Amino acid sequence: MERELGWLKREALSDDEGRHALAHDLGVPFVSLEREDISLDALQQLPEPLCRAHNLVAYKESGDTLEVALLDLADLDALEPLRAQLGKKIVPRLTTRDSLRRALLLYQKILKETYGEKLHKETHPHKTLETLLRHAYAQRASEAHLETTPRGVLVRYRHGRTLREAMHLPASVAGVFGAIRSLANVGSKTLPQEGRFKADLGSGVGMTVRVSSVPVVDGEKLVLRLLREDTGSKGFTLEGLGLHGAGVAALETLLHARRGLVAVAGPASSGRTTLLYTLLDLLNTPELSLASIEEKVSARLPYVAQTAVQEGLTMAAALRAVLRQSPDVVMLDSITDRDTADLAAAAAARGVLVLASVPHESVIPDATVVVRSALVRKLCQKQTRTGRTLERRHLESLEPHADFAKVLAALKEEERVAKDLAWKEVAYPHVTGCSECDAGYSGMTGVYEVVVDGSSILNLYEDALYKAAAGLTSVAEVLRFVQQQTDVE
Ligand SMILES: [Zn+2]
Repeated sequence: MERELGWLKREALSDDEGRHALAHDLGVPFVSLEREDISLDALQQLPEPLCRAHNLVAYKESGDTLEVALLDLADLDALEPLRAQLGKKIVPRLTTRDSLRRALLLYQKILKETYGEKLHKETHPHKTLETLLRHAYAQRASEAHLETTPRGVLVRYRHGRTLREAMHLPASVAGVFGAIRSLANVGSKTLPQEGRFKADLGSGVGMTVRVSSVPVVDGEKLVLRLLREDTGSKGFTLEGLGLHGAGVAALETLLHARRGLVAVAGPASSGRTTLLYTLLDLLNTPELSLASIEEKVSARLPYVAQTAVQEGLTMAAALRAVLRQSPDVVMLDSITDRDTADLAAAAAARGVLVLASVPHESVIPDATVVVRSALVRKLCQKQTRTGRTLERRHLESLEPHADFAKVLAALKEEERVAKDLAWKEVAYPHVTGCSECDAGYSGMTGVYEVVVDGSSILNLYEDALYKAAAGLTSVAEVLRFVQQQTDVE
């Protein structure tokens, strides 16, 4: 009550003075950005359109915190969808209107110098596209919407649920539509189509761009869904987890059809939960109703109605309740009982997309696609390696478990090796440690067996071998993995 009275009394004061006093009352530090050095890196952590819409700027980063100056603490909610991606603690500071306006102007000036001038002058469509993607990446957009208007090209970015205007470009950059179409193999302007391409933005930053083209009355509109591939950050991609080729295509087909049952099978700590979360994340758009039922909610997902199984609420009971709300997608982590498995299969048959993890695939016999998942140690990518071909004894240990011809075909199909290479010529990395790893290894990567209509694209061993040939793991690690798995069997 006292605080309210204090606030009322201060309404008579100027906006800034009132805020200063409020900061004091709430224990939020007040900052004057005229006196602070604004870090340009910190500034670019938050998308400019969002900063402008909510009167806030990030001005300082240190370790795992990001200091954000703003006029109204209620605007902190606008940062909610970015939290996971930022991976930093947001520390709010109140500031003056003048301070904020100057910081926003500085931000706009930097963007204009770094991107805007390039975009306005650039005539080569591929260079324009590259600059646009860099800008969208720096602005942490999850989607870029490009459409022709009578004045030129309107570019909007999506952050969370909101789509905001990012820039208006002259008609001279319209060649970028053609560049995107050809990269994504999207031919028709008059029919809705989808495609994808990969973009390398330099300094280890990669992106998968999913393109959908929608015919509009006055010209064209492309929606680019931007999937970052930088390791370590949230927002995983299937490729980032170690899926590839026909396996990715099979999963994407199912996600696109948005019906069926995906069962991810594997013991605890086999990467199955991460894969489930990633699949759900790929579907996470505001237009869909998404629900999850989890044994323990380990991460909060924006726009997903998450339910935790608890005393008195079994997974089957929770699933029955969730299905009454007619969701489009349900994630179940993890199914261990027959009841839930039957309910899940019935829901999938009715047109719900069900993503489930199971300790063993026998729990859920009706899956449309089964993904068996396991982890192997990943080779440190900091070293330059010399390739070695497989030794005879290695070939003999692997032969009973893997069809080498299938592995070679996948390596060629996905352009990991030259088309005319023979199996015995495939080179594997020679492992040496460096100062940044554990004897040549750093972290884990997934190996997967994607089973569609009862047949495997590659089995777990074949996929592990594929990963060794692709330089992601070692032959020694593959042999260890085979040994470990066959011991279990
Ligand atoms: Zn290393």
